[in-house]
Amino acid sequence: MIIQKQKSFEEIKEALEGEKKIFISGCADCATTCKVGGEEEVAEMKKKLEELGKEITGTTVMDVCCLSGEVREQGRAHKEAIEGADSILVLACGAGVQTIGDQLGVKVHPGCDSLFSGQVVRLGKYQELCRLCGECILEKTDGICPITRCAKALLNGPCGGYNEGKCETDPDKDCAWVLIYERLKERGELDKMAIYQEPKDYSPMAWPGKYEWEKKRPVKVPPAE
Ligand code: SF4
Ligand code: SF4
Repeated sequence: MIIQKQKSFEEIKEALEGEKKIFISGCADCATTCKVGGEEEVAEMKKKLEELGKEITGTTVMDVCCLSGEVREQGRAHKEAIEGADSILVLACGAGVQTIGDQLGVKVHPGCDSLFSGQVVRLGKYQELCRLCGECILEKTDGICPITRCAKALLNGPCGGYNEGKCETDPDKDCAWVLIYERLKERGELDKMAIYQEPKDYSPMAWPGKYEWEKKRPVKVPPAE
């Protein structure tokens, strides 16, 4: 999940300065779960902007606003309201903002800040779990990511700084390598701790990332004779 928070209303207000007619889009996926761009937040933003004297030409909450096809479909469904607006305020992650801008060819404003890819621990509490490194090593660390959860992204840990299971950079944060150790111990796989991890190839993280299936569609296998 892309964890995100809504920008302050002051910032949004400033971005919309000089524009009178606004279309608002939220997203039913991550933005709804993070309570920044679901039905409720879109309605609330509409009310606040109307109080500012803006005309809201329409609103929608797209199923997934980083899906080009879905965005084009929504563009057709709300054609008049979108064409009648000076811009679209997008209450969703940066990928959603850009997909809407690219696919609909309209001016877009980001209403949220995308923070990281992580877990919803509970509503309002989120934890980063993955830096999208392009070559997952969770198999070797029993499902705990040291690249994300260790402050030094150590592939061989722990470092000498951990103290009573906590990270030297933050006494409130568990040392990722102590967590890995405990988990491996529980599973009877402590021998994995002794395996030296070679330096990681970070080149797949180079941006902008791009990935395309080699074959667009699954190949039909003819029935066996
Ligand atoms: S190893 Fe890479 S892909 Fe796997 S969880 Fe960590 S950052 Fe994400
Ligand atoms: S104390 Fe643990 S989590 Fe913190 S930097 Fe060292 S190995 Fe990483």
